[in-house]
Amino acid sequence: MTVEKKEFAVDAAYETHWTKLTQTATKLQYYSMIGSLSGWDMQTMMPDGAFEKRAEAAGFLAGETHRLMTDPRLEEAVEALMEGAEAGHLGEREARSVALFDRNLKKIKNIPEERYRAYFTLTARGESVWRRAREANDFSSFAPLLEEIVAMSREFIDYLGYEEHPYDALLDDYEPGLTVKRIDQLFPALREGLIQLMKKIEASPHKPDLNRVRGTFPEAQQKKISRTVSERLGFDYHKGRLDKSAHPFTVGLHPTDVRITTRYFATDPFSSLYSTVHEAGHGMYEQNLPLELEPYPGLMAPVSMGVHESQSRFFENVIGRSYGFWQYVLPLYQEAFPDVFGKLDAEEVFRLVNASRPSLIRVEADEVTYNLHIMLRYELEKSLMSGEIKVRDLPELWREKMDAYLGIRPKTDAEGVLQDVHWSSGLFGYFPSYTLGNIYASQLYAALRKDIPDLEERLSSGDWEGPLHWMKSHIHRYGSLLDPLPLIERASGAPLSIEPLLNYLEEKMARVYRF
Ligand code: ZN
Repeated sequence: MTVEKKEFAVDAAYETHWTKLTQTATKLQYYSMIGSLSGWDMQTMMPDGAFEKRAEAAGFLAGETHRLMTDPRLEEAVEALMEGAEAGHLGEREARSVALFDRNLKKIKNIPEERYRAYFTLTARGESVWRRAREANDFSSFAPLLEEIVAMSREFIDYLGYEEHPYDALLDDYEPGLTVKRIDQLFPALREGLIQLMKKIEASPHKPDLNRVRGTFPEAQQKKISRTVSERLGFDYHKGRLDKSAHPFTVGLHPTDVRITTRYFATDPFSSLYSTVHEAGHGMYEQNLPLELEPYPGLMAPVSMGVHESQSRFFENVIGRSYGFWQYVLPLYQEAFPDVFGKLDAEEVFRLVNASRPSLIRVEADEVTYNLHIMLRYELEKSLMSGEIKVRDLPELWREKMDAYLGIRPKTDAEGVLQDVHWSSGLFGYFPSYTLGNIYASQLYAALRKDIPDLEERLSSGDWEGPLHWMKSHIHRYGSLLDPLPLIERASGAPLSIEPLLNYLEEKMARVYRF
């Protein structure tokens, strides 16, 4: 019998294996921190001329990660620990940790190191090539690189393996367990519901007048508002930073160091705010991952991108586009931009920021049409990965699908197929996370409302602690202890369903469009 309190619940026979695992995990964590910091720098500070060399460094670091992960002694340790877990010799957290590690190990071990490294070098170069192509509205200058990325992604699908659809192999990277089959059970019905709602909106005579916010809005004031609002929502600036980048993003190096970015447009007073609030939603999830899970490799981590997006989309839309939020925030805008906002009240701004109409750019899309943008990308990715379509088909298919889904056609590729950064970074399989995030977020909101019935009054009086507190105790504190679906089902008290999202949108749009 043990006389001393063991630090971890691992039987003596497994201690050497457990030590091997945790030591490797610590190294991997440091590599990941440095890699993430370098990635953050590439998108915020790095001079453009440096990208080739930095891409090489990113590839090198990926190669080192690969080497650590595929060390035969590690595989041996993980195998032994898996058996130990099955036989009940490991505590619950240790067992979960080992299972997650095993899942990643199985994925990476079939990928040759040289290919793994080449993939990271390629995708690290991607963003810069894409950015120039988008600025020049020149898809042909991006297409060769994209073809390489697609070919490599398909090669990786073969290494990773899949049961039904090739795209499943990639979906699983962002949302463990997600498959084409499951998406195809959700998206068509959601699309139908959204199209019905769009028709009601179109028919309403009460459209918000978007000309009411014409003007110039200097960056300095926008920045101040972004900072104030994100801080009040709960983003901790002692453990985080807000900077500028072409495409807003969040990088969590560790709960104590979370970087978020936004961008400022002089003629749009809301874009920077909503980018900041979206990223702060991601950032608060990262900041509130429980430090007590740090000794268990892989557990002090966000469980999936869908859950991550549920946090960002919740704070951006459910909170940030609510009437209560605007009752509190409007005075900040009135002080910063008295000419434009002095003549507006909270009700009008609430209606303006929720105005819904088909538009070309996903990141600027309203909540109703947003998911149709995602469905378009989902269908294109699915067909690209199965080989049904080629990179050269993308611009025209994009236009056709925009027409079919939203009734508008982009005139340029910059506002069509070139608008998103994801493909240049090899993030195939990511897009569905946004819609899943919206579905999760509305389920969480339905449950949160029961716990905080006076949420609107609280928001309007500046009492903003409730939502973050609720998310901390229902989502953040679990880290990766639970898979996404059980986590969402437990937090919301209901099985996965598109109904809460459709109900939420219907209720909000009825208020905005008065139907
Ligand atoms: Zn996001």
